Amino acid sequence: MHYYSLSNPNETTNFAQAVVNGIAPDRGLYFPSEIPRLPASFFDKIEEMDVHEMALTAIQAFVGDEIPKEELERIVKTTLDFEFPVVAVEDQIGSLELFHGPTLAFKDVGARFMAQCLGYFNKQNSTQKVTVLVATSGDTGGAVANGFFGVEGIEVVILYPKGKVSKVQEQQLTTLGQNITALEVDGVFDDCQDMVKTAFLDSEITNQRTLTSANSINVARWLPQMLYYFLAYRQLKHKNKPLVVAVPSGNFGNICAGMIAQQMGLPIDHFVAATNVNDAVPAYLESGNYQAVKTTPTISNAMDVGDPSNFVRIQKIYGNDFENLSQHLSGYRFTDEETRTAMQHIHTSSGYVADPHGAVGYLGLKKYLENHPDKYGIFLETAHPVKFLTTVEETLGTKVELPQRIQDLLEKEKQSTPISNYEDLKRFLLA
Ligand SMILES: *Cc1c(COP(=O)(O)O)cnc(C)c1O
Repeated sequence: MHYYSLSNPNETTNFAQAVVNGIAPDRGLYFPSEIPRLPASFFDKIEEMDVHEMALTAIQAFVGDEIPKEELERIVKTTLDFEFPVVAVEDQIGSLELFHGPTLAFKDVGARFMAQCLGYFNKQNSTQKVTVLVATSGDTGGAVANGFFGVEGIEVVILYPKGKVSKVQEQQLTTLGQNITALEVDGVFDDCQDMVKTAFLDSEITNQRTLTSANSINVARWLPQMLYYFLAYRQLKHKNKPLVVAVPSGNFGNICAGMIAQQMGLPIDHFVAATNVNDAVPAYLESGNYQAVKTTPTISNAMDVGDPSNFVRIQKIYGNDFENLSQHLSGYRFTDEETRTAMQHIHTSSGYVADPHGAVGYLGLKKYLENHPDKYGIFLETAHPVKFLTTVEETLGTKVELPQRIQDLLEKEKQSTPISNYEDLKRFLLA
């Protein structure tokens, strides 16, 4: 399978190089040269198929023979070793729970898959250790740390802002050890991000270490998210109703992966992009003009993105045709107040506890179903409510029980190295 840069179709490469590079040399996002269609027989029997076999077939279409089948099978099994249940919330509405992975948020699947692919490619043709350098505002760091933990030949260095991440998030970053190092930065997230960017351009460092990033535009983090939609469909096929999927969206990688699944033939009737007040995409769907917005902090903070990177991929999928896109995608924005009201409503009417991100998805779905009562809808529940414990407990006025895994995590010993400026980071990386 070939991948090309969305900034220049002549800039092409293979899957391995797209994974190692992350972004094309001209700064464009990589996109597959074709989206293969799976045969009708695949969908006829999907509910009987073994989960790993189904996932392997879907993902192999984008990896080709660059990873041998047995190895890819091992990667798929390692990536998908937990449940993805659809839980009924209302007659017409289910919650697709994507938070049963090790760090309790949906980013686990992409991070694990990418870590395993990078580990494989590195083993094939490199004697040099690769250093994954990432800045995190909270969720990404935990998923990356966990996904890369123990992967041979790869060292991970995570920068996080001191005192600005939740206790659970900090423990997820700082208690693993081995090939994972956490640098606790005396500053805010943007300082961490700036230092990482500077390091990538610093030849004294790059001459000595192979640096790579693990952010969500990497095809190996983006594409495996398509599997959620296959996993949902096989559970809901028996309903025999057009399936609507509402995705709480920030950088739009998750929903975009769902659209790839649809292009492969997966019967998804319609997508709903649900955002908080950072509403560049819903605004585009209303006006036809795309404009980045200035980021506003909200209670669904993993979606506080003013200029979603993956939107160019979405436009590409629908042939850069506004009418075509509008037929497949609706977009709605919601305020924090509406989100809290929805969390309370879901809880009192069905007993279900949704996190703020899932609640935004629920709101988008409800709005769409108002005018499409014959369809069945799911919203993606992208994080476990304990990841946003304070907001959830405050909003619902109840205590949320901590899963055993989290209680154990909180008891582990924190190990981090404090740094305060770029020179500190450089010294660390050159040591
Ligand atoms: C990252 C994240 C999102 C947004 O996903 P995108 O793929 O960036 O649109 C939504 N919810 C949670 C909990 C997240 O961590």
